Amino acid sequence: MESAMVLSCPVCNAVHALEGRRSEYSKQDLYARVKPHLGRHDLNEPKMAIRKYEIISNATEIVIPSETTQQLPIEEWTKRDDTWLPDGALSSGEGSLPAPEPSVEISSR
Ligand SMILES: [Zn+2]
Repeated sequence: MESAMVLSCPVCNAVHALEGRRSEYSKQDLYARVKPHLGRHDLNEPKMAIRKYEIISNATEIVIPSETTQQLPIEEWTKRDDTWLPDGALSSGEGSLPAPEPSVEISSR
């Protein structure tokens, strides 16, 4: 069995897998993987920071049979539908979803 980490982009649903355990990666390592991808999206600085944080805090560690690691989108960010992920690799969609952006608008009317 192998450990891997799955990152998913909340903007376009692309996924990216990293071999190894979450504890093997520093936040800086993860930022380095996430940043080039987010650069493709037309985001301003604050949005970029929010998404970056979101992707990293939603990163999921999975344990899979060694022979299936090659099927993971290790090389690059891949569309969710175009790649294989084990069941339960993405925690989003069940339970409590963190709000992607603060939805409370403080507007004085
Ligand atoms: Zn994306």
